[in-house]
Amino acid sequence: MNAPLPDTKPATGAGDAKPLNLLIAAPRGFCAGVDRAIEIVEKALERYGAPVYVRHEIVHNKYVVEGLKAKGAIFVKELDEVPTDAPVVFSAHGVPKSVPAEAERRNMVYVDATCPLVSKVHRQAERQLEKGRHIIFIGHEGHPEVIGTMGQVEPGQMTLVENIEDVDKLPFESDEELAYLTQTTLSVDDTREVIDALEWRYPNIRGPKAEDICYATSNRQAAVKELAHDCDLVLVVGAPNSSNSLRLVEVAERLGTPGKLIQRAEEIDPAWLEGIDTIGLTAGASAPEVLVREVVDALAKLRPLHEKTITHTEEKMVFKLPRQLTE
Ligand code: SF4
Repeated sequence: MNAPLPDTKPATGAGDAKPLNLLIAAPRGFCAGVDRAIEIVEKALERYGAPVYVRHEIVHNKYVVEGLKAKGAIFVKELDEVPTDAPVVFSAHGVPKSVPAEAERRNMVYVDATCPLVSKVHRQAERQLEKGRHIIFIGHEGHPEVIGTMGQVEPGQMTLVENIEDVDKLPFESDEELAYLTQTTLSVDDTREVIDALEWRYPNIRGPKAEDICYATSNRQAAVKELAHDCDLVLVVGAPNSSNSLRLVEVAERLGTPGKLIQRAEEIDPAWLEGIDTIGLTAGASAPEVLVREVVDALAKLRPLHEKTITHTEEKMVFKLPRQLTE
């Protein structure tokens, strides 16, 4: 248990209750790819007028999705739910090649909000195939990004592995031409283990020059590592289907600190704060800052807060919008 921090500002709080130290991770929340995807939908609404259709949740956050719905976006699962004469946006997670191909076949107006860092993995897949290599893709089965990346190649050209057990089961000989790529939002530590297992079994396997796990995922995990040791509990604001948010809970728990994923402040159970001195707070890459502040305000109603930001690094990444929305 930790004593109150001497250099923090007391926030307004709940009466005479014992103060609670609140360590807020930085960076947290929105990344450049999510900012860009949301702006793409907003700009598409300005340019084409409502409704603008969006294939899949633009980012994994209900609050964001509801906000865009209120502005005139209609979210659908598949392209065949979109009228041919309506504009459609593809989500930040990326789409299989068949999706834009279908939109073109139907002469639809579409805007691709795939994060440029996911598109980079798609291009790497193409390059590895051109060199005659079979691709081992490290990712979580069923995640939209994995479906999108595996959909860049023909069936049978890419094999998904989720963990080192899957690596053991791979049917390839040790001298086969192989390359690996990864989903962008994985656990940095788990992925290293899987890559080590692949390199041990296939000494000639090729990988990307720089890791595919994106800067935002790595930075948010590193920021949680910096504060988790000093906390009795770490709250992660994010959606249950958000891969990078789930990884943040795991990072805290692996350091021996319980982690809880919450979507909104109302999910905080006051019993969680019983007997604890220090709580950590962060947010996944698709969770807006307004939801983090909502959590801070809710905590301040339960206990007087001493709030402090623990900065791992500052992010300055910004991605350009697609030209069709800026010209
Ligand atoms: S988490 Fe990373 S890959 Fe995903 S949208 Fe953000 S920057 Fe792009």
